[in-house]
Amino acid sequence: MSKKNRNAKKQQAEARSERMKNLTMVTVIVLFLGLGIFALVQMFVGSNEEPEAAQVSEKIFEYEGQPVLGDPDAPVKIVEFGDFKCPACKQFKDQIYPQLKKDYIDQGKVAFYFVNNPFIGEDSMTAAIAAESVYQQDPDSYWPYFEALYDNQGNEQQVWATPELLVKLAKEETPEVDADQVKKDIENETYKEQVEKDRQIVGKAGVTSVPTLFVNGRKVEPQEAFQYNNLKNIIDQAIEEAQ
Ligand code: CA
Repeated sequence: MSKKNRNAKKQQAEARSERMKNLTMVTVIVLFLGLGIFALVQMFVGSNEEPEAAQVSEKIFEYEGQPVLGDPDAPVKIVEFGDFKCPACKQFKDQIYPQLKKDYIDQGKVAFYFVNNPFIGEDSMTAAIAAESVYQQDPDSYWPYFEALYDNQGNEQQVWATPELLVKLAKEETPEVDADQVKKDIENETYKEQVEKDRQIVGKAGVTSVPTLFVNGRKVEPQEAFQYNNLKNIIDQAIEEAQ
């Protein structure tokens, strides 16, 4: 092997060793970064301490003007922000609300409020106006109507909350209510302002998805609300704190 060749080989070997060094450095850096990120995630997710839950002043809900199920003087007030067109809100009504009603609302431990957050379609607003009309005529009829709206929920992508359906449901489900008045209120958008007021509350409360609940002002995200045991713990804690 000539000296020139040997030098070339040596240079190649050095270059290889340099590349290996660089590669090792990169690997170490990536590993450290990875560990760092893992540690950060652990801090936020994996730690035993619960993350600070968002708390808002309950004044913003204007409870007095909102439909309420159960005893308004109950130690715990739960507000649901929802849209009658929202499939997850229907799911909440079907899966969680009946248990909540049985365990807490009917026991006088929880007063349950609903605030409109109509955003999915034009008919989200129509349904909200119809429900407000029912509420204004007879507050107790609000809840059977609320349930009927979710029971008759159609495809999210389609306009199903038509004035015809909304009036028909009022006729069938809320005998105390004058369905013709509901029809007029839909046509005249009589309670649109009420619904717009609810929308302002949505903004103040920082609600970004539905159904979002507030338990005595403590924000409960949808994923939390759908784990009933989790929700129970939050409510039980709130009852304890209220005593
Ligand atoms: Ca309202």
